[in-house]
Amino acid sequence: MARKKDPAANKVETKTFTVKKCPYCYTYVAVKDMQCNACGKRVGVVDSSGWARKVFDWQAYLGAVMAVIMFLAFYYWAFLAE
Ligand SMILES: [Zn+2]
Repeated sequence: MARKKDPAANKVETKTFTVKKCPYCYTYVAVKDMQCNACGKRVGVVDSSGWARKVFDWQAYLGAVMAVIMFLAFYYWAFLAE
């Protein structure tokens, strides 16, 4: 006789969270929130352990790259250009 699968067993894999933990300041924010209201950082979707995923911050990387380019341009202008 085939054992009937418990429908509740499948739900263990896809736990539904109502809150997720901010990876930056460790406070709980609502799952639907895409920004932490404690530290103001953007947070992603909740993972299987209840943590919010970190969102790739394009603006920060762009700012860093721009700063390096500006520095190199200044360095070239100040020391290498005739
Ligand atoms: Zn936070």
